[in-house]
Amino acid sequence: MDCFYHEHTAAVGSCRACLRGLCRRCAAELDGGLACTGRCEPMVGAIVATLQQSARYQAVSSGLLGSARGLWIGLTLVGLFVGGFVILWGLQLPYYRELALLGVPFLALSFISGRLAYRVSARSARTEPAS
Ligand SMILES: [Zn+2]
Ligand SMILES: [Zn+2]
Repeated sequence: MDCFYHEHTAAVGSCRACLRGLCRRCAAELDGGLACTGRCEPMVGAIVATLQQSARYQAVSSGLLGSARGLWIGLTLVGLFVGGFVILWGLQLPYYRELALLGVPFLALSFISGRLAYRVSARSARTEPAS
């Protein structure tokens, strides 16, 4: 491949924006690749910035998913602990065993957040949205 701007000069690479062949004299080396000097430099800069931004966004969103999962797992454990404790405590009371029923909403909460934690982790493992 020859340089697009200089005939009979071998290209060292191609511009990231317009894909033309570039020789050593024409190529501007940017962070994310080569660009036509004075022509495509802003364009390639924008392309690279967009790519980096989307990569950063993906990292942030998967981090959010991970922390949401931790939150749901924490809620599950707290619900199980509190619900179990209230039920055991209520059953030990001689006359007010109905108080044990107060533990049921906590167990339901832990059940729901356990399911959510499972769903969140399944979604982040497969990367495609759950149907
Ligand atoms: Zn170019
Ligand atoms: Zn050239």
